[in-house]
Amino acid sequence: MHILLMGPPGAGKGTQAEKLIEEFKIPHISTGDMFRAAVKQGTELGKEAKKYMDAGGLVPDSVTIGIVRESLSKPQCADGFMLDGFPRTLDQAIALDGILKDLGIQLNGVVNISVPDSELVGRVTGRRICKACGATYHVTFNPSKVEDVCDKCGGNLYQRDDDKEETVKNRLGAYHSQTEPLIEYYKKQGVFMDINGLQDINKVYADVKAALGCK
Ligand code: ADP
Ligand code: AMP
Repeated sequence: MHILLMGPPGAGKGTQAEKLIEEFKIPHISTGDMFRAAVKQGTELGKEAKKYMDAGGLVPDSVTIGIVRESLSKPQCADGFMLDGFPRTLDQAIALDGILKDLGIQLNGVVNISVPDSELVGRVTGRRICKACGATYHVTFNPSKVEDVCDKCGGNLYQRDDDKEETVKNRLGAYHSQTEPLIEYYKKQGVFMDINGLQDINKVYADVKAALGCK
């Protein structure tokens, strides 16, 4: 299973990825998670990425493509992976084709979760993440049982710096101008599948699995 999850910020990629990796035991490669980890560790990569993340823009391709190449080249990705949040530009998509060709891997599917902008702002601003295990919640749509405490590990929940309303608007702008055109790119490759992300989380998951041909 070599799968790519696409969609605007807040569409539910991370939420669906959490379920897929638990059921199918494949590595989850999320460039957003990698950048957040680097920011937390205070590495040079983190310092560079934070400038763009805080503004709601994209981290330059020259930085992003390298970290994905390194991740996908690890042996644990040979049998499958779930790429989430990459590619986000045409140059990243072209680079990914080259990386996969070098590794002798073909994408099984590009799953696009469609959600209109009007819904996304509320989803992103209400998102809460577990500091300890990274699980995703929503204050209204997917609340934890105890406020600000993770159901899975008891860790504290926090709001991402870039999930504030001002930043979300820039992120949606970056999505429409730079990432949305990739829908046509993958349609041409014949691997594109569109899922209605305006359904409840479990129904979206059922549709994702059906699109991928899983029971
Ligand atoms: P992405 O990874 O695409 O940015 P997330 O998976 O983090 O998006 O989801 C964004 C927010 O929306 C989270 O707070 C999540 O709990 C919530 N969410 C995800 N899927 C749905 C859904 N189908 N319906 C309502 N809320 C959802
Ligand atoms: P995400 O967790 O996917 O919402 O990503 C959070 C932020 O990380 C984005 O708003 C970008 O600033 C940065 N980022 C994540 N993935 C990429 C990518 N493929 N290309 C450029 N920037 C990225």
